[in-house]
Amino acid sequence: MSMRIGYGWDSHEFKKGVPLKLGGLAIDHPQGLLGHSDGDVLLHAITDALLGALAVGDIGSFFPPGDTRWKDADSTIFLNLAMEEAQTAGYRIVNVDTTLILAAPKIGPISGDLRQRVAELLRIAPGAVGIKAKTPEGLNQDHLAVAHAVVLLETIEEEDGLREMEAAMDDPQTVEAVVSELVGEAHGRPSRGTSSRPDFDTDDIT
Ligand code: MG
Repeated sequence: MSMRIGYGWDSHEFKKGVPLKLGGLAIDHPQGLLGHSDGDVLLHAITDALLGALAVGDIGSFFPPGDTRWKDADSTIFLNLAMEEAQTAGYRIVNVDTTLILAAPKIGPISGDLRQRVAELLRIAPGAVGIKAKTPEGLNQDHLAVAHAVVLLETIEEEDGLREMEAAMDDPQTVEAVVSELVGEAHGRPSRGTSSRPDFDTDDIT
């Protein structure tokens, strides 16, 4: 098994009247974060941590800020691309740890929701997501939100895939479904689940 660690950091400036998004969660607050995208400082730091673990560049090299396609973009797009990169390279996320530094809003009351949302987006258990927050004491940075993130990746072992397949084959219903799919394909019928998928992905975000 091989493991990789990644680190990401980001900052955005607060502005009145802008919607606040943190960790993919819309948060009720009079100020939001300015950015070319939705300004989600936490997702940007996690995205950079993932790309850093893979040593494939950073969020700016994949999504240049000058590109109009990313104007007000939902930052989950960036995160999803980094996750795809990890999967393609044969890695899965072991855990993620983050620290937010901001004067307001208070993160304590929403940290459970934040953890849940980030875990959902990363497709890992909430217990594998650390959300910590600090106020910028003595830094004179109350106008900013800063996020730090570290992520640990491990290789997806072939054995894990086999074990999952074995477990599935113990279920008679799964066996029946697989057999009927194979028989269907042999008779030229499309296999299950493929008919609604488009032939190619038109949503090219690179
Ligand atoms: Mg950013």
